[in-house]
Amino acid sequence: MKIVIFNVGGALSSYVETSAKKIVIDLGKSGDFSPVNDFLLPLYKIRNENRVSGKYQIDQLILSHPHLDHINDLEEFDKYFYPILYTTPNDLSSDANKHMNVNWSLIDDPKSDPVKKLRSLFYGRQLPLRVCEPTRMTIGYIYPGQVEDNDTLRNESYTNNISIGVVIRSTYSIFFAGDVQKEGMKVFLEENPAIKKQLSEGIDFLVTPHHGLRSSFSTDLFDAMKRGKTTRLNIVSEKATCGPDDKRQVDSRYSSSDYCEGANNLCSQDTPVYQRKTSNGHIFIDDDGKITIETDINKILEKFV
Ligand SMILES: [Zn+2]
Repeated sequence: MKIVIFNVGGALSSYVETSAKKIVIDLGKSGDFSPVNDFLLPLYKIRNENRVSGKYQIDQLILSHPHLDHINDLEEFDKYFYPILYTTPNDLSSDANKHMNVNWSLIDDPKSDPVKKLRSLFYGRQLPLRVCEPTRMTIGYIYPGQVEDNDTLRNESYTNNISIGVVIRSTYSIFFAGDVQKEGMKVFLEENPAIKKQLSEGIDFLVTPHHGLRSSFSTDLFDAMKRGKTTRLNIVSEKATCGPDDKRQVDSRYSSSDYCEGANNLCSQDTPVYQRKTSNGHIFIDDDGKITIETDINKILEKFV
């Protein structure tokens, strides 16, 4: 399994290739980096991947939740790629299962172009949500209706707390926690025993919930993990901090030995490394779990060709 978590400023986007499947998790972009135009499209062109009706096939696109910093490259994606499985919080359930549907009036930017785009791509996203590789992937979410009905979760952030999270396990394991916030994570873990089981079996890499912000650090999340911490690295897609509001800052606990064992190739004896931010560069993890942090995307492309 090869993974890259892109440097897209304060946004988030990741690409995963297992031996059999190609998976995109979130499609945030920054002013100077588009995961679609600067990585996916060049890669699929170089490899001369198959196209169906003019579009390259991706096995699964997971958009964790409809916040712009997770979806604003979707329009570009849709020009060139077709996801065989398209997975995002939706509103396609029958009236009888209304609690499974997103209440778009509670979403932060319901009229924005990326959110309209997200809603217009309807193929293959009925609940319960599926994964393209059931032996390796475990998906979890709180039903939107449950977030809506729970004052604490709704006030904390409706849009963030309906995030889809996913664990992928190969020779190593990684948890993409979406933007689930502190109170949301408590309920997320209660509602998703399959995810909880994965955590209890050990998590090597954590893409920290809600960009690693202090307001979303969850001790429940780490309590659910084997030995109470990640094994290799906590990964943060850092938001720009804005002024004195320290809720907008990355939680320092992610970079402590209390929450990561630091079993990784970035460590030397004197300088253990528990956390890395995508603002340092694109974070690439190879088949053996070896980490490379790279500002030149061409160097990452070479690793996938
Ligand atoms: Zn969000």
